[in-house]
Amino acid sequence: MNKTGYFTHPDCRRHEMGPGHPECPERLDAIEDRLLASGVGDALDRREAPEASTEIIELAHSKMLVNAIRGLQMELAEHIAAGGRGYAQIDPDTAMNPSSWSAVLHACGAVLAATDAVIAGEVQNAFCAVRPPGHHACRDRSMGFCIFNQVAVGALYALERHGLKRVAVVDFDVHHGNGTEDILAGDERVLMVGIFQHPFYPGTGSRPLGDNMVNIPVPAYTKGDRIRQMIEEQWLPRLEAFKPEMIFISAGFDAHRDDDLGQLGLVEADYTWMTERIKEIAAKYSNGRIVSSLEGGYNLGALARSVEAHVRSLADL
Ligand SMILES: [Zn+2]
Repeated sequence: MNKTGYFTHPDCRRHEMGPGHPECPERLDAIEDRLLASGVGDALDRREAPEASTEIIELAHSKMLVNAIRGLQMELAEHIAAGGRGYAQIDPDTAMNPSSWSAVLHACGAVLAATDAVIAGEVQNAFCAVRPPGHHACRDRSMGFCIFNQVAVGALYALERHGLKRVAVVDFDVHHGNGTEDILAGDERVLMVGIFQHPFYPGTGSRPLGDNMVNIPVPAYTKGDRIRQMIEEQWLPRLEAFKPEMIFISAGFDAHRDDDLGQLGLVEADYTWMTERIKEIAAKYSNGRIVSSLEGGYNLGALARSVEAHVRSLADL
């Protein structure tokens, strides 16, 4: 058993937020095409994600938020059934179409099913090719292309329902994972390590909200060699000391130098390098258990190549 699971669902592709929106369904097509063309897809244990229950989503989110999002989806469905058009707007950047509720339930369900499969030893690790992304979604608020925070849901599920004692969250998206920090700061069962462009959207992260947050804000135009050095100095010793029983990755690829939504200078080899370091920690302390979930990444070519590099490393190819 050393396979990498690949969890996705067709409804994650059906969620869309309007013409020209960078967080678009074609992101998943680009990833699928690349994995297929490169042959990496052949090595993966491909599974269809189930829906998460709202009960499990409420490990990370308030009932108020879950009910508000479900209510928005129902209003939109009525509006469309009556011949209306358009989207239900959550914030200026974030909207729902008629498939969004199902998409986000399956996005969370992918991470939960991946967690089950990894803990059961059916697969060594897993990548969840899901939309919408999740790491900006706070306990009480959806924002920044994100509705529910699948990585925070997964981490709390591993702790609460699988009885793990320590889980780590690694976030290498170009944007600070403010939602994950909001949900997990101060929870000493969790260590979160992140690196992100700063100052930048959403403006948070320079002052961590808890001792269990290792935030590395970096200025625009920082390149991979410097980022690797900071990861070696700041993430790895904390991860070593924490000895996580499982590692979740908020895998955003918008810190790639070709991605116009951010101004950092990572390339595919940097994603391979980061994944290798995470795998080393996981091999030492976590029985190899890693669940990675797609966050950002908006240049379709760079996204697809970076996901290939990340998954190739996860799968030891
Ligand atoms: Zn991002």
